[in-house]
Amino acid sequence: MNSEDIKAVKELLASSQEIVIIPHKNPDGDAIGSTLGLWHYLTNKGLSATIIAPNDYPKFLKWMPGNEHILNFEQHNTQAKEKLANASLIFTLDFNHLGRTGQMAPLLESSMAEFVMIDHHQAPDDYATVTYSDVSKSSTCEMVYEFLNYLGDTDKVTAEMANCLYTGIMTDTGSFKFRSTTSRTHTIIADLIDRGAQNTEIHRQIYDTNSPSRLHLLGCALKNMVILEEYRTAYITLSQEELDRYKFKKGDTEGFVNYGLTLDGIIFALIFIENKEEEIIKISLRSIGDFSVNEFSRAHFQGGGHTNAAGGKSDESMEKTVQNFLGYLRAYKKELGTGTRISN
Ligand code: 5GP
Ligand code: MN
Repeated sequence: MNSEDIKAVKELLASSQEIVIIPHKNPDGDAIGSTLGLWHYLTNKGLSATIIAPNDYPKFLKWMPGNEHILNFEQHNTQAKEKLANASLIFTLDFNHLGRTGQMAPLLESSMAEFVMIDHHQAPDDYATVTYSDVSKSSTCEMVYEFLNYLGDTDKVTAEMANCLYTGIMTDTGSFKFRSTTSRTHTIIADLIDRGAQNTEIHRQIYDTNSPSRLHLLGCALKNMVILEEYRTAYITLSQEELDRYKFKKGDTEGFVNYGLTLDGIIFALIFIENKEEEIIKISLRSIGDFSVNEFSRAHFQGGGHTNAAGGKSDESMEKTVQNFLGYLRAYKKELGTGTRISN
C-alpha cells in the first residue's frame, strides 16, 4: 500500500459505523484466518465488525478464536443480509473478484459501501476504494500482518490474532515450503509466535484430525490416480458415489491433489471432484515450477488462482470433463513434456 492508500484506510476506519468482512466461498485456512485476524483487530479498536462467510467450511477450521461470531450467509441469511445492507465499509479478503462469493455477489455488486480488498491472487478486479493486492505474498494472512504494519499497529497483535494469522500462513504455504515463502514470511511467523501463536497446537488442529472414513477416501483417490508420464501430469477423480461411500464431509479432500506432485518427475497435478448437488465437477490444480495452473484454469475451467495453485470447475459430466482435459493437454505437450523439474 502506498501512503495515499494508508491515509484512505485510516479515514475509512475513522468514519465507518458498520464494517463487514468477507472471505471467498468454500473458505480455506487463509480465508478464515485472515478474516478473523482482521476482525479481532477492528473489534479490539472498538469498531463494529461482522464476518460473513458465503457458505460453510470444514470443522478443522472452526477452532480459531472468534469463530463463533462468523455469520454463514446460507445459514444466517436474514441476519447476514441485514448486516450487508447496513455496512458502510466492506473488506474482501483472499479473493479479488466478487463472483468468488457465490450467492452474495449480486448484493455486493449493488452495495453502496466502500470496499477494501486485501488479496494475493492474480488479476484483481477494480471494485475497491483501496486495493491492497500483492501476488508475491504467501497468503492473505501475511498481508493482514503487513496491513497492520502500514497502520503502525503490529504491537496490537494479540495472541488470538496471532493464532488466526499463523494458521493461514501455514496452510497457504504448505507449512512453509512453497516458493511464496520468503524470509519476510518467517520473520512475521517469528513475531506471531512471540505474540502467542501456539504453533504446535495449530499444526495438530489442522492436520491431525483424520477420521477413518477420510483415510479410506484418500485410499480410493490414490487408487484412482492416473499418471500421464509424457505430460509429467497426474490426475485424480472422485465421483459422487465414491464420496458417498466414504461418508464425505466438507474438507475431507483437502490436500489430496498434492499427492500427484510427490511423484518424481510429475510437475502438474489435478483432482476432479464430482458435486451432484451443484451439478459441477470442482477442480483443483497444482504445479511445480513455471507451468501456470492459473492460466490453464482460466483458459479451460472458469477458474484461476496462483501460478502453482488454482481452482476451477466444469459443468460437464466427469467423463466428458476428463475427456476435455485430455484434449486440452495436447496443446501443452511442449511446455509439460520438456524442461527441468524445479523443486519448490
Ligand atoms: P483450491 O484448489 O485449494 O480450492 O484452490 C487453490 C487456489 O485457487 C486458492 O488460492 C483458491 O483461492 C483459488 N481458487 C479456487 N477455486 C477457484 C475458482 O473457481 N476461481 C478462482 N479465480 N480461483 C479459485
Ligand atoms: Mn490465500
